[in-house]
Amino acid sequence: MTQERVQVFDQRGQELSPCSLEKAQRLVAEGKARWREALPPAVELTRAVDLPVRKPQKEPDYAGQRVLLHICCGPCATYTVGRLRTLGFAVTGFWYNPNIHPWQEHERRRESLVRFAEQVALPLLIQPGYDMPAFFRLVAGRERFRRRCAICYALRLRAAAQKARAEGFDAFTTTLLISPYQEQELIRRLGEHLADREGVRFYFEDFRKGWAERGRLTRQYGLYRQQYCGCVYSEWERYQGEACETYAPARLEPADLHAYFEEALEILERL
Ligand code: SF4
Repeated sequence: MTQERVQVFDQRGQELSPCSLEKAQRLVAEGKARWREALPPAVELTRAVDLPVRKPQKEPDYAGQRVLLHICCGPCATYTVGRLRTLGFAVTGFWYNPNIHPWQEHERRRESLVRFAEQVALPLLIQPGYDMPAFFRLVAGRERFRRRCAICYALRLRAAAQKARAEGFDAFTTTLLISPYQEQELIRRLGEHLADREGVRFYFEDFRKGWAERGRLTRQYGLYRQQYCGCVYSEWERYQGEACETYAPARLEPADLHAYFEEALEILERL
């Protein structure tokens, strides 16, 4: 499992080697460092600590490129926005989530995201309306967990890819890639398919390494923390578990993954 890393600076502002989240928390608790109000997460040492000087990293540099980030909720945007900015991207958020039910829950998550965006100066594009009827029409008869999720991902990524193309972005991506509860391989395949179709690059990264940091930042920014993924099926499964008709184990067999991907593509072609 990848450990969460935190940037470390000394008293003069010189960047040192990053450390684990646990070590950063320990340094802060011991009075040896304080949190910096910044994304990505960082601590500033209050006195000398024996840390090696940071070696140059071989990370890609996307300076000057604009990425449209589809955002499922404020908490998942916290780490992801910071991570993309670290890579040099100019990030714009994009809200389109007709899978979130009921309407008041949709609004609560959207409003929480708007407040977060204001705090971190994140430009935000909000798709007008609420496509909840379209979501239900597409998943009707395909309500099983993961089968409906493939369609749910396709619907939202399609909107993001189209918006990215229309607005001249260099790439698009999604905060869904941070969640250990989402099927990342399905998201990647659908994103790459839509990239080919719309002529806009899909930026893929396993953002899950930032999951723990997402929790800390969510508390720091005082964001609303939802109790279920989004759709009414997921709310039922959250509270009824295996007793629920749409419930299925989280692990997806490769054959099912392929079948759900192909089905979502067929649906995309008809949209
Ligand atoms: S569980 Fe989440 S990803 Fe799956 S269909 Fe419902 S809202 Fe979409």
